[in-house]
Amino acid sequence: MKGASGLVPPANDDREQDLLRASADFGHIVDSHPLGVLTARSVGAVQELVAFAGPRGIAVTARGGGQALYGQGQADGGYVVDMAGLNDVRCVPEDRVLVAGAGALWSDVVRAALAAGLAPPVVPDHLGGSVGGVLSTGGFGGASHRFGLVADWVRELEVVTGAGERLVCSQQVYPDLFRAVLAGLGQCALIVRATLQLLPAPARVRRYRLYHRTPGTFFTDQRRLARDARFSHVAGQARPALDGGWHYMIEAVAPHDGQLQPEDGLFIGDLDHDPDTEEIEDLSYAEYLHRLDRDERLLRATGEWHRPHPWLTLLLPEEAATSFVPAVLAEDAQQALRFCGTVQLRPLTGSTLHAPLLRRPPGERLCLLSLMRTAPPDRPDVVRRLVAANRAIHTRATAVGGVLHPGGALPMTPDDWRTHFGPDWDELVRAKALYDTHRVLTRGYGLWP
Ligand SMILES: Cc1cc2nc3c(=O)[nH]c(=O)nc-3n(C[C@H](O)[C@H](O)[C@H](O)COP(=O)(O)OP(=O)(O)OC[C@H]3O[C@@H](n4cnc5c(N)ncnc54)[C@H](O)[C@@H]3O)c2cc1C
Repeated sequence: MKGASGLVPPANDDREQDLLRASADFGHIVDSHPLGVLTARSVGAVQELVAFAGPRGIAVTARGGGQALYGQGQADGGYVVDMAGLNDVRCVPEDRVLVAGAGALWSDVVRAALAAGLAPPVVPDHLGGSVGGVLSTGGFGGASHRFGLVADWVRELEVVTGAGERLVCSQQVYPDLFRAVLAGLGQCALIVRATLQLLPAPARVRRYRLYHRTPGTFFTDQRRLARDARFSHVAGQARPALDGGWHYMIEAVAPHDGQLQPEDGLFIGDLDHDPDTEEIEDLSYAEYLHRLDRDERLLRATGEWHRPHPWLTLLLPEEAATSFVPAVLAEDAQQALRFCGTVQLRPLTGSTLHAPLLRRPPGERLCLLSLMRTAPPDRPDVVRRLVAANRAIHTRATAVGGVLHPGGALPMTPDDWRTHFGPDWDELVRAKALYDTHRVLTRGYGLWP
C-alpha cells in the first residue's frame, strides 16, 4: 500500500523482524499473527492506515513500549502501528507544559522536563512505557496518592479516531472524546500527541525504606503517610521474610533542595516500623525517577525480563486490603512470588483519581495491589495455572469491593467488561459507536463480541 503520506512496505528482513516484535509483548503469554506493521513516521500515515482499515473491518492497534501483558497491544489478522517514530518531545517551560509524541517513552519525557527544572506531577515507576500506552491505561506512580493518575495531568490530546479523523481534544474541545481516550484502553482513538502539565521538580530527595513486621502496622502507617503531606511519594511492597512469612516495606520520599536537609526524626519518628532495618538514602530527583533502571538491567542479565509475566493488578478498598493481601500471599499459587517477582502495594486517594474510565472502588482510601510475577518459559502449564489463579483472585477481590486494573494477564469477555465498567459502560458504548464505528481499534482487550 502506498499513498500520499508514504505508506511504503519495509524490506523483507525488516518486515519479518517487525512482524515478530508485533506478534508478542512483555507478557510473553499471548501471541498473534498481524497482517502488517506500520512504522509510524507521521500522523498522516497513521490516519491513512486507519482510514484504509476501518471500512474494511481490519483490526488496528497501536504499539508503544510493548509492555502489554496479555495481547492488549496486538492485532491478530490486522495492522499494528508502531508508534516509536512519533517520539518528539518539546518542553515549553514558560507554560509549564511538555508536548510529546505518543511513541516517546517516559524516560524521554523525564529527561526533557528535568532539563528545564520541571517534572510531570505523576511519573510511572518504570520509564520504558510509551506516553500513549500509559495514558491509555491511566498510569500510576509514586505521587499518585496526592496527584492521581498520569492521565489526570493531560491538557490536550491529538488523536486519530477509528473513523480515521485527526482531532485535537481537551476538557473544552470534544470533551466526550477526551474522556473516552484517557484510561480508555485505546477503544475510541489512537493517541498521536499529548500535552502534559508539569510542576517544578525538586533537586534532591531523601528516600526512606521502612520495614514492618505486620500488615496491620504497615497499612496504618501507609494510610497516615498518604493523608498528610510530609512525603511527596509513597509506595510499598510485600517482601518475603526468612521465616516463610512476609515483611511489608514502605518507600517514602521527601524532596529537598540539597541545602536544607530533612530532619529524619520529624519524618519517620512517629511511625511503627522496625528502626533497626530502616534504610535512608539521598538521591538526585533524576536518580530517583530512574530507580528501576538498575533492576531492569539485572533482570535482562538473568533472563527474567524475557520470561512470561502473568501479572495481575487490582484496586482494593484499603480496609479490605489489610486482610485480603496477606490471605492472597499465603496461597500455594502465590509462593513463586517469594523467588521471582514483586508485590507492589500503593496507597491511592479516591478523590484525586479523575479520569472517568478508570474504574475504582468507592471511597477515599484505596490500595493498588500488583502481583508482578514471572513463570518459566518452557512451562505453559504453570502459566495457565497462574492465569487461572488471577481469575480466582479477581473474583474474590470483586466480592470485597475490589476492581481490576485493566492490562493484566486475565482473559475478559465482553460481559466481564460490561460488569467492569458498570455505570460508565453506556458512555463508552456511545463513544465507540461515534468514534470507532467499525470497531477496529485495540481489539486485544476483547471488549466487543
Ligand atoms: C516493567 C513494567 C513496569 C510498569 N510500571 C508501571 C507503573 O509504574 N505505572 C503504571 O501505571 N503502569 C506500569 N506498567 C504498565 C504499563 O504502563 C502499561 O501496560 C502501559 O499501557 C504500557 O504502555 P506501552 O506503550 O509500553 O505498552 P504497549 O504494549 O505498546 O501498549 C499497551 C496498550 O496501550 C495501547 N497503546 C499504546 N500506544 C497507544 C497510543 N498511542 N494510543 C492508544 N493506545 C495505545 C496498546 O494498543 C495496548 O493496548 C508497567 C509495565 C511493565 C511491563
